Amino acid sequence: MDEQHDPRLAELRTRLAAVRHRIDDAVAVAGRQDSPPRLIVVTKFHPAEDVRRLASLGITDVGENRDQEAADKAAGLAGLDLHWHFVGQLQSNKAKSVVRYAHAVHSVDRLQLAGALAKAMAAERERTGRGPLDCFIQVSLDDDAEGHRGGAPAEDVPALADGLASSDGLRLAGLMAVAPLGADPGRAFEKLAAISARLTAGHPDATGISAGMSQDLEAAIRFGATHLRIGSDILGPRPALR
Ligand SMILES: *Cc1c(COP(=O)(O)O)cnc(C)c1O
Repeated sequence: MDEQHDPRLAELRTRLAAVRHRIDDAVAVAGRQDSPPRLIVVTKFHPAEDVRRLASLGITDVGENRDQEAADKAAGLAGLDLHWHFVGQLQSNKAKSVVRYAHAVHSVDRLQLAGALAKAMAAERERTGRGPLDCFIQVSLDDDAEGHRGGAPAEDVPALADGLASSDGLRLAGLMAVAPLGADPGRAFEKLAAISARLTAGHPDATGISAGMSQDLEAAIRFGATHLRIGSDILGPRPALR
């Protein structure tokens, strides 16, 4: 369908261009033209048809935060060459399902989940021979429990990193965080960069920093984000929670 007959495609093209423009500007300001971040479009709550439209606009990486929705979309769009990123809170009993479609999990926040993913990956590799699962440790950047947005405390990172790094089928990719509500995202991402520096001292390949959403992508790029997770500024407001 061309854009004349698919106004939604035209809308996504315009919104995506605006976000890409913001990213390019922030990359230039940060002097990161040689190492721009990867854009993951978070498509949660939006239909698979939107993912197909985004793929036609050159998007290769999509993010989802609920297993059932992600599994359905990935199955329906199996013909497209997409990388699926799981970015939401994950229960261990969903690990088996997630490894069937996910290229990466950004929300590993406890050893038990790392263990469940390793076990699920062993079975999945036996079945399909798939490549390793990229795992980001989600860290909490909150100073207190107020406005808590998930993630392990920073002091848990070394043990989690060792656990992931020593698991067959899992690749320790780096860190992920969500900036605390109502706080300066720059300060939060600066803290994340410091935690990342400590992590890479012991795990030199774990250089990933998954940070930056619609509201704060500029701050994330300034402090070294390698993966941006952008939803609403590209897709528009999410349909109400079901
Ligand atoms: C929804 C979501 C995003 C995208 O947020 P927007 O503000 O819509 O850009 C990013 N990361 C996670 C973990 C999310 O759940």
